[in-house]
Amino acid sequence: MQRLQAFKYELMPDGEQQRNMRRFAGSCRFVFNKALALQQAHYAEGKKKLSYADLCKHLTEWRKSSETQWLSETHSQPLQQTLKDLERAYQNFFEKRADFPRFKKKGQSDNFRYPQGCKLDQGNSRIFLPKLGWVRYRNCREVLGVVKNVTVSGKQGKWFVSIQTEREIEAPVHPSTAIVGIDMGIARFATLSDGSYFAPLNSFKRQENALVKAQRAKSRKQKFSNNWKKAKAKVQKIHARIGNARRDYLHKATTTISQNHAMVCIEDLQVRKLSKSAAGTTETPGKNVRAKSGLNKAILDQGWFEFRRQLDYKLAWNGGQLVAVPPRNTSRTCPCCGHVANENRLSQARFECVNCGFEENADLVGAINVLRAGHARLACADTSPAVGASGQEPTEATQAIAA
Ligand SMILES: [Zn+2]
Repeated sequence: MQRLQAFKYELMPDGEQQRNMRRFAGSCRFVFNKALALQQAHYAEGKKKLSYADLCKHLTEWRKSSETQWLSETHSQPLQQTLKDLERAYQNFFEKRADFPRFKKKGQSDNFRYPQGCKLDQGNSRIFLPKLGWVRYRNCREVLGVVKNVTVSGKQGKWFVSIQTEREIEAPVHPSTAIVGIDMGIARFATLSDGSYFAPLNSFKRQENALVKAQRAKSRKQKFSNNWKKAKAKVQKIHARIGNARRDYLHKATTTISQNHAMVCIEDLQVRKLSKSAAGTTETPGKNVRAKSGLNKAILDQGWFEFRRQLDYKLAWNGGQLVAVPPRNTSRTCPCCGHVANENRLSQARFECVNCGFEENADLVGAINVLRAGHARLACADTSPAVGASGQEPTEATQAIAA
């Protein structure tokens, strides 16, 4: 089977390379925003959406126009890749996977991608990037496979390179035959049908006060002053710390689960829908907006979407499989007698069957029911595909988690 994998390293560019990278990233952002504005103008006039090819023609004009001639200092391929990104952002929107594409802000997405033309010299820990030249990187592990494309990104003054590769590997056979169901929750991040569970992450909550304090301090400072810059760096640092803690936690949890179980059943919750519905619309404001937005925040905080994404590819890498089951009555069905009733669920935490009196932790009941639904799905359709078990490591679905 084919395995796509990304390898990320910190770059060690010289001053000129840094200036160029900042400029390239800025040009890409400019092109993205200009193309998005153009699409919106077209839509407002009732015209058809421009295709990628149309946008590329516009890009050629912009590179020639005297006003935006500086764009021609950036390699054309990363600029075209930006247009591809916009195309995909629209696609994700049309297929209801993401919000409408947003304009990019400086410092938010300082990156650009080369589809080809990069040369990797692992022996000397350097990579050749078109129009930048050879850039050294911190070589911490070997790159495996054929280089497909290369993304350069900047974050808090540091520059990174992510090398996407492709290689043929033997289809792995999972060492375990265990199958497990998982219930995702607020009180417990994930409950497994074998009774074990993962505590809530709440990394954001723990750091929330610190963040609010830092943001307040920043708002009191004179904008663009030295103190303001210091305060801004502090805010960014806390954000980064929260992100790192969350990533670390999720990776540990998904690695453990995917190593111990060949098959994992999980509710096919649409995370986006959950987090969306609370606010409602101006005509029909959502009920319990406050309570729900708390819940939604917790969902986003805990990164259910990311959890599922990681489980999916890690299972596939180990020769396992992720099975998504429709979330029907999983929290209201008695695993003992099969009785379905709202009254079975006494509270968020407790389950008690009104028919047979079976009592258990509500999350564990959910996990057991998810496992049963998974078994049923496998039994009735041997060919039921896993949720995109493609052996890929898809890029982090930021649009789903970004609040
Ligand atoms: Zn019962």
